[in-house]
Amino acid sequence: MSSRILPEFELFFPQSISEAVGLLSEYGEKMVVMAGGTDLLVHLKSFRERLASTAGHIDPAHPVSHYHPQYILSLSEVPGLNHIEFSEKDGLRIGAMASLADVTESEEVKTRYPAIWQSAKENGTVQTRNRATLVGNLLRASPGGDCCCSVLANGGSLVLQGHGGKREVEIDGFWTGYRETSRRADELAVELRIPSPSKDTVSSFVRLTRTKLDISKINAAVSLTMDGKHCRKGRVAMGCVAPTPLRLMKAEALMADKPLTEDLFGSLAETVAKEIKPIDDVRSSAEYRREVAGVLIRRAIETACGTI
Ligand SMILES: Cc1cc2nc3c(=O)[nH]c(=O)nc-3n(C[C@H](O)[C@H](O)[C@H](O)COP(=O)(O)OP(=O)(O)OC[C@H]3O[C@@H](n4cnc5c(N)ncnc54)[C@H](O)[C@@H]3O)c2cc1C
Repeated sequence: MSSRILPEFELFFPQSISEAVGLLSEYGEKMVVMAGGTDLLVHLKSFRERLASTAGHIDPAHPVSHYHPQYILSLSEVPGLNHIEFSEKDGLRIGAMASLADVTESEEVKTRYPAIWQSAKENGTVQTRNRATLVGNLLRASPGGDCCCSVLANGGSLVLQGHGGKREVEIDGFWTGYRETSRRADELAVELRIPSPSKDTVSSFVRLTRTKLDISKINAAVSLTMDGKHCRKGRVAMGCVAPTPLRLMKAEALMADKPLTEDLFGSLAETVAKEIKPIDDVRSSAEYRREVAGVLIRRAIETACGTI
């Protein structure tokens, strides 16, 4: 029998956020959330392979739903989750069901958060962007997630709603390991919040892929506060170079209050190569990733500053 057949599960269509949260609280780790389903359904089809790889033994480090979620909670009929709103005071708010296509159609995102816009635009295909959500990209917690990288460079927080109410979790530290987050099993991610950028902030997202439609071999994003050619401060993020999307704090410290010169780019490349922890996998080798990381960061900086 093919191992690519979906396992059996029971599908729930709650009609409100409170009903969804009630179901998550009732079923806990036996239930998983489905937003666009572009990752979850692929993951479900390979559950037998994951089980076989552990010789049928369920690793206690993972919830049972990692192998075979018995219950799936679809967000497709929950109202109030597909907003994209911006105000100077509150910044950007992206609801859990706003698709990547919605994000690319937003002028506010395109002009004020170019890194996030670019990471949504380059993500997957027209078909997957119509279904896939930006919040789903963050919750998927892949170290190569394109929107994970751009959101980490911008900084922001996720609003998680559980039975006891809402809490806001900073994106720094949200990913706790490979495909693991600090979200509790009974919590629904309802919204991403990103602060309003200052007028002198620039940002960009860049990635390297085998073909245009592939998932990143390595990606990078920056958000910089500039004073002419002088970088006052910045956030630098990179993906596919560690078990989680990685913020490059040493690179950030090196750039702070410095003009962007050839010498600085040289030192940045050396620092970045030491700061990342890439591995060999199906998409690339550790050696290649280490080699191109500095080039990619420079490309991201120059794209953000409009000097490329
Ligand atoms: C052909 C193809 C191409 C792709 N290309 C790319 C690419 O270029 N770059 C990239 O980064 N990814 C890519 N992906 C992966 C995937 O499409 C994206 O990561 C997408 O953004 C996931 O969003 P989704 O809404 O479909 O998530 P889902 O599949 O619905 O969910 C993903 C995970 O997040 C959890 N989750 C989702 N929403 C919530 C919520 N609100 N609360 C709690 N948990 C939640 C789910 O339980 C699941 O574990 C690709 C996938 C396919 C099939």
